[in-house]
Amino acid sequence: MMANCAMCEEQAKKVRSGKPHQYLDKTDAPRLFKGAQSRGFEEQDYQCRVCQAKFTYSTNRNDLTWTLWQG
Ligand SMILES: [Zn+2]
Repeated sequence: MMANCAMCEEQAKKVRSGKPHQYLDKTDAPRLFKGAQSRGFEEQDYQCRVCQAKFTYSTNRNDLTWTLWQG
């Protein structure tokens, strides 16, 4: 397994910032979740062009903003 690049290491520490680093590309369409009681939220998958790390960005307040998928 490749080590994550420095940009992805920093990305994984971002808790509130929504901005992906410059080599993170969207790999899929955004997924929209409509909550019955809430405003709903959005998830978006990204992959790094440098180290191939995969992230999911989420606007769900109960989730991490950036989740790094290990393995
Ligand atoms: Zn990377």
